[in-house]
Amino acid sequence: MDCLFCKIVRKEIPADIVLEDERFLVFHDIQPKAPLHLLIIPKKHIHSVDHVEIEDKELMGELILTSQKVARMHNLKGYKLQINVGREGGQVVDHIHLHLLADIAK
Ligand code: AMP
Repeated sequence: MDCLFCKIVRKEIPADIVLEDERFLVFHDIQPKAPLHLLIIPKKHIHSVDHVEIEDKELMGELILTSQKVARMHNLKGYKLQINVGREGGQVVDHIHLHLLADIAK
């Protein structure tokens, strides 16, 4: 699949990975907009929130739990989660991803 984040999943493009398991990859955003800016992605290619199917509902729940896990790994007291949807919603990479932004980089 000719998708930037699929290439990161397949390790064809390097990324600063902080967590990887069977279904998810978490890595640092290349152009951070906060002291800590992580991207949490499912390894499964899903174009955007607008393309999520009912069969993905467990995966989407796990996406949130993965963000909680990395927040705990970084001892964050608070953080922001953001998903951009579609070009008009600011989405540039067409592989669903959750931005985690926090003030404290650790
Ligand atoms: P969005 O605008 O929601 O599609 O966010 C895409 C994000 O991916 C942006 O914040 C980019 O800085 C980030 N990004 C693009 N290419 C890479 C890359 N090779 N490694 C890490 N982050 C990237």
